Amino acid sequence: MHCPFCNTPDSKVIDSRLVTENNQVRRRRECIDCKERFTTYETAELVLPRIIKNDGRRSPFDENKLRIGMLKALEKRPVGVEAVDTAISHIIHKLRTTGEKEVDSKFIGELVMRELLTMDQVAYVRFASVYRSFQDINAFIKEIDQLEITQEEIDE
Ligand SMILES: [Zn+2]
Repeated sequence: MHCPFCNTPDSKVIDSRLVTENNQVRRRRECIDCKERFTTYETAELVLPRIIKNDGRRSPFDENKLRIGMLKALEKRPVGVEAVDTAISHIIHKLRTTGEKEVDSKFIGELVMRELLTMDQVAYVRFASVYRSFQDINAFIKEIDQLEITQEEIDE
């Protein structure tokens, strides 16, 4: 963040708060060079943790990618777009409240599965089968068995 007064590239954050109405983060910064203070508004995506992929590479959280993955699992299922939006906002909220700078991609996968489980079981199994890339059919059957147990627990 360049200082608007002297253009020094470094500044330190002296205060940071989430402006929830429009999902922005308001930051008070102080230039390390000229000591002038200024305020920035950054989109909340910037405070979301970065994603650690399976191969160790880091990438920014991509809401669009998440949506595409979920819609794919929900293809031709009786679930509306609004429910998907709600699920995505749940996931983003959980990511934001971890307070972590980086999270494993597995963590997001588990969050997605938890949301899908309450939305549509077919979509859940579809997503789980792709996401966990089951090594063999037994692992897949085991997953479905666990799903039935979970459903019974919910019914009780
Ligand atoms: Zn400055």
